[in-house]
This record gives sequence, structure tokens and C-alpha cells, in this order.
Amino acid sequence: MRRVSIFGATGSIGQNTIDLIARDPGSYQVVALTGASNIELLAHDARRLNAEIAVTADEALLADLQNALAGSGIKTAAGTAALTEAAMRPADWVMSSIVGAAGLAPGLAALEQGATLALANKESLVCAGALMLRTAAKHKARLLPVDSEHSAVFQALVGEDMSAVERIIITASGGAFRDWPVEDLASATLDQASSHPNWDMGQRITIDSASMFNKALELIETKEYFGVSPDQIEVLVHPESLIHAMVGFKDGALMAHVGPPDMRHAIGYALHWPDRKALPVERLDLAAIGQLTFRAPCETRWPALRLAREVMQTGGLAGAVFNAAKETALDGFIDGRLRFTDMAGIVEDVLSKLSAQQGHIDAIMTLDNVASIDHLARKEAQEAINRKAV
Ligand code: NAD
Ligand code: MG
Repeated sequence: MRRVSIFGATGSIGQNTIDLIARDPGSYQVVALTGASNIELLAHDARRLNAEIAVTADEALLADLQNALAGSGIKTAAGTAALTEAAMRPADWVMSSIVGAAGLAPGLAALEQGATLALANKESLVCAGALMLRTAAKHKARLLPVDSEHSAVFQALVGEDMSAVERIIITASGGAFRDWPVEDLASATLDQASSHPNWDMGQRITIDSASMFNKALELIETKEYFGVSPDQIEVLVHPESLIHAMVGFKDGALMAHVGPPDMRHAIGYALHWPDRKALPVERLDLAAIGQLTFRAPCETRWPALRLAREVMQTGGLAGAVFNAAKETALDGFIDGRLRFTDMAGIVEDVLSKLSAQQGHIDAIMTLDNVASIDHLARKEAQEAINRKAV
């Protein structure tokens, strides 16, 4: 039996992962399941899958979790340190699907104990790509991409040599506002930004899809994971979301990965890698679909893409600053303190302020340094929001 843990089990990726694991209960021993505020769901799944331990990120909810699991024999714990401790429990395969930079420390801990880490939490690579890869190499742990675009690239590269790769194209649906007039974006509401045309995902990534901050994170994720230079990575708007990525080779060939917008494909590929096993996803009828369309992304509509290119050029801890400022600006939009179009300006201000100060972005990439620049960037972003908010 494979020992598996799921970090962020109550979220969209976590629930899709549980869906796959629960279909084949004899094959898996569930070690840790973690969540944050949804204690009922966390306890329900911990019982259903007979997990060894259930952890909530929120210490104030420990008693609720204990009550919900009373008599089950399942251990409980709470808080950020408990999440990392849970990641240190021996496991063969760990799903990293916490949202945000909070996923970094547990992911590193899982790599340190040699687990295969299925990485949905792109923020880990954006904040600390070199540290993640270094840790995986040191402990002979595997890091497998779960983001649909990166899983697609990974699959298109099977049997290929990276030296033959000319470019990587990641596609973007364009999100909720791809067809809106640019001048209307400033008045976009939270509800409008929280609905995605093709994918059913957590609220934060859905809003990030509308602003293209999600694709901006994915550009950086591509550079970090595949070790290509920024000018080898392209974003292509593809409203149907059926081609997830393409790899262009030196001989002019493009290998495209085509599949339905269902994260269980990428999760299942990482779960069964290097094998392929049957997955419960829709089989595409391309004749019925008829056509696939593409457009170049517009950087006036989506300034996040330009900012990601600046971050990739700067390197060092710029990714951690970018992500922390973005998370804080997103909170500002969700709380109604910022307009949709204000988010990019906040991120840009924080990036330029911290880039200009010696000793921040150029510090060595350790977990402590990433945590302290993350903290500083959040503080700067909060101050910028306070100056802007009405
Ligand atoms: P979600 O909001 O649905 O779920 C997030 C999970 O993280 C929940 O279990 C929540 O309890 C937990 N969590 C939230 N804050 C936490 C904190 N501070 N500490 C610990 N746990 C916390 O998010 P999601 O859509 O499932 O996305 C999860 C990750 O996967 C993100 O990094 C996202 O970018 C990435 N991703 C998601 C999709 C998708 O289809 N949903 C696709 C590609 C990549
Ligand atoms: Mg993606």
C-alpha cells in the first residue's frame, strides 16, 4: 500500500485528489489530511479514508476538530508548525495543494523525508524555486508538476532531451474578463471575478485567472521547474482551455497536450507516474468541438504578465516578493478595499521598492530569508493598499 498525504485536502485540488484515491481504497494508506476552516469536511474525509492524522492550519479550531474526530482514533493537530510536522511523517506520495505561500514549508518538509511531491502549490516554486529543487535533489525526492500546463509540458517532454527544446507555450483561458472592454475592468465586482468560464477551482486562483496573475505565477513556475530562459516561454490565450501547453522543438515540431479541463487528469498523472492508468475524465470529441482558437495576450489588459517577466529577469527573491504582494493585493480586492485593476499597481510598487533596497531580493535563498522577505512584502503591500483604499 502506498502511503499518501494531502495538504490542502479540503480545497478544490485536495477534493479532486481524494476523489481519485477513494476510488481505489485498497491501494492507499492515508497518512495526513490537512485543511484550514472547513473542519466538517476535513473530519468527514479523515474518517472516510481512515487517515492517521488530521491537521487544521487554524489553532483556534483544534477543539472543533478534536470533537469531530472523537472516538475515531485519528490524531489531530493545529497550526503552521503542526502542518510541517505532519509533512515529516513518512509518506511515499504527498499532494501539495495548500493555496499560497503557506504551502512552501510543508512541501519542503515532505521533500526532506524523500517523498514524491505532487505540486499543485505553484507559489512554492515562485517563492523559492531553487530551494525546492535543491532540497529535492539533496534528498533524492521527486517533484512532479500538477498545474495543468506544467503537467502538459512534462508529458510532452517524455523521452525528449531538454537541449532540443526551443520554446514552451503555456495556454491561458483569459479568465472571466477576456472579452470585456479594458475600460470596464476597473468596475469588475468580486462575484464577476470569481466565476471562471472553463475551470471549477478555488476562489483565489479563479480571480488570479481573471487578472492573469495566475498565468504570471505560471510563467515563473515554468522557468523554475524546466530550467528554461524567460524568452523561451510564451503565453497564448486559448479560450477553449483544451490545449494546456505546447513544447516547441528545434526541428520546428510542436507537441501539444490536449485534454478536458479536469484537474483529475494532471493529479492522476502525478499519482501514477511513470505509468498511465485509467482516469475518470471525459474523452474529448474533437469533431463535436469543431475548432480551437488562439490569440496573443494583451499586456494592457493583463499587466501581471509584464510584471512576471520583470521578476524572472531580476531573479533571487523577487518571486517571493511578487507572490506575497499579489496575495496581499488579492486580499484587498476580496475585502473590497481595492478595485480589480488596482492589484497590479500595488504589486509593481512593492517590487520596485524592495528591488531598490540592497540586501532584500539579492539575499541567499533559505526558508528563513524567503519568510522574512514575504513578511516585508506583505507589510509594504498593506501600506500601499492603505494609501490607496477609500
Ligand atoms: P482552494 O482554496 O480550493 O483550497 C486551498 C486549500 O488550502 C484548502 O484545503 C484550505 O483549507 C487550505 N488553506 C488555505 N489557507 C491555508 C493556510 N494559510 N495554511 C494551510 N492551509 C491553508 O484552492 P485550490 O484551487 O485547490 O488551489 C490549491 C493550490 O493549487 C493553489 O496553489 C493553486 O494555485 C493550485 N492550483 C489549483 C488548480 C485548481 O484547479 N483548483 C489548478 C492548478 C493549480
Ligand atoms: Mg494552471
